[in-house]
Amino acid sequence: MFRLAHVRGRAALLDDSHWFDLATLAGDESWSDPMVAIARHHDLHALSGALSSSLTPARPARPARPGGLIADETLGACVPRPQKVFAIGLNYRAHAEETNATLPPSPLTFTKFPSCLAGPDASIELSGESVDWEVELVVVIGTGGRHIGAADAWSHVAGLTLGQDISDRVVQRAGTPPQFSLGKSFDGYGPIGPAVVSVDAFADPDDIGLWCDVSGERMQTSRTSDLIFDVPTLVSYLSSICTLAPGDIIFTGTPSGVGMGRGRFLRPGDTIDSGAEVIGELHNRCVQPVTAG
Ligand code: ZN
Repeated sequence: MFRLAHVRGRAALLDDSHWFDLATLAGDESWSDPMVAIARHHDLHALSGALSSSLTPARPARPARPGGLIADETLGACVPRPQKVFAIGLNYRAHAEETNATLPPSPLTFTKFPSCLAGPDASIELSGESVDWEVELVVVIGTGGRHIGAADAWSHVAGLTLGQDISDRVVQRAGTPPQFSLGKSFDGYGPIGPAVVSVDAFADPDDIGLWCDVSGERMQTSRTSDLIFDVPTLVSYLSSICTLAPGDIIFTGTPSGVGMGRGRFLRPGDTIDSGAEVIGELHNRCVQPVTAG
């Protein structure tokens, strides 16, 4: 298994407490780009095996030297430049109910433009007074392809990470019919991380618990076993239309408990603490927008 992160602008593998520069570990500078590393996800397992950590029961003869402590770093987006960012709406039954929507017959898909992606501890500049949280499991494609069958889908996945599909509800719902993409693509509205965690790290990758606290209050909690369209179905469906590329990511939809259903939106000073089993946590603070000039 491996945990792939983005440290000081370079790809890094993580153990429980340290980061290891991937290119140094591999002895090959071409590994320094996280997008290259994701495309070579099969080789990351062996490179991760060289770490001198609890991840690897059998320690190698010459343990790798860590670059430093994870806790001392501000991680970047673990998938910094995906070609495509898919996001799925209304993919948990209870969330569809809280938004009074009828269940979609096929995955309700929009995009978040890649420029919205941010690191796991990034601040979020609020674009208005109706900005909402949406904790989501995020799928990272490792091996691309077209017409991928559901039975093969997991073998095309490099790993999983966690994301917040931050949404400006006014911008999202402006216009008839509403077009979601811009309201979900303000700079910083896609924090992801802390790392891409390989599929074999999960006891059951189709049943992962996730949660979201806003300023200390538990707002969302669910399991991905409650997805209406599960990960294999999403990979199969999306690849029936678009050729998937290594590094493409899929925000799989959010459970119930968003602000829209509560009449409570994000305010400057709010903290968003999101987590998922095995993957880890995001900690984002909401701030006033920094205006130009
Ligand atoms: Zn969403």
